[in-house]
Amino acid sequence: MKKTAIFPGSFDPFTVGHESIVRRAIPMFDKIVIMIGYNANKKSFFPVEKRLKWIKQIFQNENKIEVQIYGGLTVDFCKETGARYILRGLRTSADFEYERAIAQMNKKMHPEIETVFLLTLPEHTPVNATIIRDIIFHGGDASMFLPKGLDMNEFKMENKDYIGG
Ligand code: ADP
Repeated sequence: MKKTAIFPGSFDPFTVGHESIVRRAIPMFDKIVIMIGYNANKKSFFPVEKRLKWIKQIFQNENKIEVQIYGGLTVDFCKETGARYILRGLRTSADFEYERAIAQMNKKMHPEIETVFLLTLPEHTPVNATIIRDIIFHGGDASMFLPKGLDMNEFKMENKDYIGG
């Protein structure tokens, strides 16, 4: 049976930290589906279509990687795609506490699905999408925190209604 993992997140935007987690997980799975969580009622910074395009571009040469937008629960997406693993990255003890609760509740409800954690590389520990949005919002240069090969001109403030967070 194929080992498929889902890497869920809002990826607003997808950072070097996210990229590193996915690349390190490639040898562990037959397929990784990057799931962009989408909530029509939640304001994002970058439109979901742009996030999809960027992530596809980053992994265009990786045949094990797929990218999809999904509006529901990660576990339901796992069932739809036949995935038995959820991949998550851990930066800090705050991430750990947050992730622990979600993973344990998911495990209780769906014992067949395992959540797999990779610890971030030390240099990616501070890389945080919220701070990147703030840098871009205020006209700063966040390119060093974004994956290489993307057109940095596309990373401009888009959502005039965005109020931070
Ligand atoms: P969410 O909104 O679900 O927290 P994110 O897009 O912020 O989604 O993150 C998706 C996953 O990537 C989470 O597991 C998060 O802990 C992890 N992650 C975020 N930033 C980094 C980083 N710099 N290094 C490693 N993992 C990260």
